[in-house]
Formats: sequence, structure tokens, C-alpha cells
Amino acid sequence: MRHVPDDPTFADVLAANAAYTRDFRLGGLQATAARGLAVLTCIDSRIEPLALLGLCPGDAKILRNAGARVTDDVLRTLVLASYLLGVDRAMVIAHTNCRMAAGGEDEVHDAVEAAGGPDTRSLAFLVTDDQEATLHEDVQRIRSWPYLERLRVGGFLYDVESGRLTQLC
Ligand SMILES: [Zn+2]
Repeated sequence: MRHVPDDPTFADVLAANAAYTRDFRLGGLQATAARGLAVLTCIDSRIEPLALLGLCPGDAKILRNAGARVTDDVLRTLVLASYLLGVDRAMVIAHTNCRMAAGGEDEVHDAVEAAGGPDTRSLAFLVTDDQEATLHEDVQRIRSWPYLERLRVGGFLYDVESGRLTQLC
């Protein structure tokens, strides 16, 4: 393994990892999801997917992207999780105060540019102005995907202020 010397960018987390390995207890875990669960949620750093569902490492497959959207890559991953990794139920968890549900696509492009970024108008950020309707559509997209017929799916909203999870569909 090649060692990258003296790169301060990740020094804090590499030091933490060295400490982590001293008390490491997950070495015997199986790669399959012990609770048969896949969870798709947003990248928002206020969300602790395992903790908010009472799960431990090894219990569930966690998928994350901006806005917890059901993309082609999510579908691809769910097919693998469903047939090879023990998953038979999936939760799509949107959350309150999500940047991807506040305003339109143009506003996000403008915000990126205002932050010194490039013109991103060739990208689709999958922003929604009706979060609940979008959640229903995304859940339905999984339910109607022919490869995922045996997967049970639910749509949920997580409140980042109270920690409460509510099933919407
Ligand atoms: Zn979000």
C-alpha cells in the first residue's frame, strides 16, 4: 500500500482512525444487512441514519445523496442490495429544512455561482418545490421498478429539530 506522506488535509481523521482501530470490534460482521433494511436519506450532516432508527453497524445498507432522491444509481444499488445483500425492505427518508426542497433548480445554480463556483446549469440537482409529492413519486419509482418487485418500500420525513420520524407513504 502506498503511503502519502505529510498531507495535512486528512491528518485529523487519520489520527482518529488510528485510535479507532485500537478498540475495533466489527471485524466479524457479515456483509449482508442483518435487519434486511436499506435506508436512503440525504447527505445532511444533521442526520444520523443508524442512531435515529435504533440500528447498529451491520444492520442496514445506507445510501445517501443530496435530497434523498431515487436516482438510477440508487435503483442500481437497491437491486444489488435486494438480491445479494439480504435487503427486503427500504426506507426513503426526506427531512425538514432540506436545501434540496427549498426553492427551485435555478436558485441552486445561482447559489453555487454566487459562492464562487462555475455555471452548473448542465447539472440536474433534482431540487423539488413539493417535498411530499416528490417523496411519493420517488417511493413509487422503486415500487414500480420491475427488478425490485419483492422489495417493501416506505417514504418518511425526518424532523431535524425534534429527531422524530414520520411515515408518509
Ligand atoms: Zn437534505
